[in-house]
Amino acid sequence: MIARQMAYFAAWEKDHDQRCDLEAGMAKLLGARVAWAAADNALQIHGGNGFALEYEISRILCDARILSIFEGAAEIQAQVIARRILA
Ligand SMILES: Cc1cc2nc3c(=O)[nH]c(=O)nc-3n(C[C@H](O)[C@H](O)[C@H](O)COP(=O)(O)OP(=O)(O)OC[C@H]3O[C@@H](n4cnc5c(N)ncnc54)[C@H](O)[C@@H]3O)c2cc1C
Repeated sequence: MIARQMAYFAAWEKDHDQRCDLEAGMAKLLGARVAWAAADNALQIHGGNGFALEYEISRILCDARILSIFEGAAEIQAQVIARRILA
């Protein structure tokens, strides 16, 4: 919920020609972490079956994991955020 609001706010800033890397970085980092935690919890509920490729949740977990790598890896987003906050 918060990640979505931050994403919309970053988009609003972009639409208004304002700098948005801090808010976009926060939205990306938080959204990726929430997606991973949610997918991990969902797989846990499925027990051992959730790990099997026959179950869609194993694919969802795999898809959630890449969110912390592409379009700006988590460590890079954290650097962007820290640089702006400490500037
Ligand atoms: C399914 C998929 C689709 C993709 N689609 C596209 C696309 O459409 N367009 C495109 O341009 N690219 C695309 N990519 C590439 C993607 O953007 C890169 O994989 C991503 O930028 C990470 O780069 P890398 O794989 O070289 O990992 P690396 O840069 O080697 O990173 C590996 C790890 O080291 C960390 N790291 C790297 N540098 C630092 C640093 N200075 N400080 C601290 N930690 C650091 C990273 O955070 C990460 O955890 C895609 C990748 C995948 C898997």
